[in-house]
Amino acid sequence: MTDLLRVNDLKRHYEVHVPEGLFGRKASLKAVDGVSFSIEKGRTLGLVGESGCGKSTTAKLVLGLIPATSGTVEFAGTPVTARHDAQWRAMRRRMQMIYQDPLGALDRRLPVITQIAEPFEIHYAQMPAAERTDRAAVLMDSVGLRPDMAMRYPHELSGGQRQRVVIARALALEPDLLVCDEPVSALDVSIQAQVLNLLDDLRERTGFAALFISHDLKVVRQMSDQVAVMYLGRIVESGLPEEVFRRPQHPYTKALVSAIPTPARRGKRERIVLEGDPPSPVDVPSGCSFHTRCPIAQASCRNAVPQLVASGGHAVACHLVNAGATPAVQAAE
Ligand code: SF4
Ligand code: MG
Repeated sequence: MTDLLRVNDLKRHYEVHVPEGLFGRKASLKAVDGVSFSIEKGRTLGLVGESGCGKSTTAKLVLGLIPATSGTVEFAGTPVTARHDAQWRAMRRRMQMIYQDPLGALDRRLPVITQIAEPFEIHYAQMPAAERTDRAAVLMDSVGLRPDMAMRYPHELSGGQRQRVVIARALALEPDLLVCDEPVSALDVSIQAQVLNLLDDLRERTGFAALFISHDLKVVRQMSDQVAVMYLGRIVESGLPEEVFRRPQHPYTKALVSAIPTPARRGKRERIVLEGDPPSPVDVPSGCSFHTRCPIAQASCRNAVPQLVASGGHAVACHLVNAGATPAVQAAE
């Protein structure tokens, strides 16, 4: 299998001013701090973690919407940069994005069919208007929107229908990669499954690869061929979903997994409750940045940043796990 997307040691640091003392101080906010992963053609990588861990920034970096501080992104063998030139535009045609808020992603003043046809207008200016409309109608059908909705405006649709419009528009140019940033978190729980099933179905039919971002482990588990867990700008564990979710190794993943409510597990194991919120990415703790909340942290964890070490396709960034010590936090089954 060939990698469609390759991300290597990607960093995005911002200089920020912290109001502290008389004059405040300058500090570095490490939104993304050395992330590496790859996505094969037609496969989906799920990126999971609490809000503020750098998932959305990673998405923007992948698409070249913001420049990286360092590191590289390669799409189909070509470096993605935040230079918005002709080469970038051609590449962006093959990489599309679905955001959390469909209303914000749509133009309130235009009927939905016009918005679905918009990519044709931008990228295929010579395409006759009638053909653009025909193609948009086919796309509407493929995402389960009735033909009579064509002339409706975004506010006349439900949240789920709006997200279908956004998906139809994103698929108009038959992208190779779809970056989905919390695509169902703004929707009612009852609608979430429908939209996820639609994405799953479209992926099967059209073969796009996806970077699927969510704070919801259940959603990521359903959608992904590979999973990466992020904490404070870094990937702390990655592997096949069944490995990561059934046999989590990193203490942070164990805590996340232990919080998934499932009837089958009720009473079988304890929920691991982490103390406090994740620290600010402005003052990332030294060494293993999880040490301030880790139930099995040792004094030495404060010294060196643990590297992601792979064994059998499952990679973990924890000194104790990688030293072969069995951490005293119970794994989820
Ligand atoms: Fe916990 Fe130490 Fe492992 Fe970090 S390196 S996750 S602090 S045990
Ligand atoms: Mg986000």
